[in-house]
Amino acid sequence: MAKATETRTASTAKAATQRTRSAAETETIRVALTERLDELQTEYDQSITELTELQRDRLADSAGDDQADTGSKTLEREQEITLANNLLERINQVERAIDRVGEGNYGWCERCGNAIPVERLAAFPSATLCVSCKQLEERR
Ligand SMILES: [Zn+2]
Repeated sequence: MAKATETRTASTAKAATQRTRSAAETETIRVALTERLDELQTEYDQSITELTELQRDRLADSAGDDQADTGSKTLEREQEITLANNLLERINQVERAIDRVGEGNYGWCERCGNAIPVERLAAFPSATLCVSCKQLEERR
């Protein structure tokens, strides 16, 4: 698997050594990440609201629930907590990514050294591999 990539890396290494994106491109990434952060923040807020409601329901009417009902509510709450935690983790990733955008070493594939496309960074802010290298990694 590695052999094919090495050959390709050799041919693309020249362009990659510069490691500079234009200011406009950096700005595009920053804007995309900021928008992503807003979306995640909104989702997270909704998730917390959801959790608060579940918690309130639980306290309000758990006395009258049968066991199956209580069980499904507990499950629902656990799923909601997992979701909230995932969102928080992604928010942290995006925030770290935004911090790193200006540093010059953000958004470059660790494997082949090519610039990771802006769209990919917006979707996966913590991506350290370009799509083709990621696919190679997954196939191993
Ligand atoms: Zn790559």
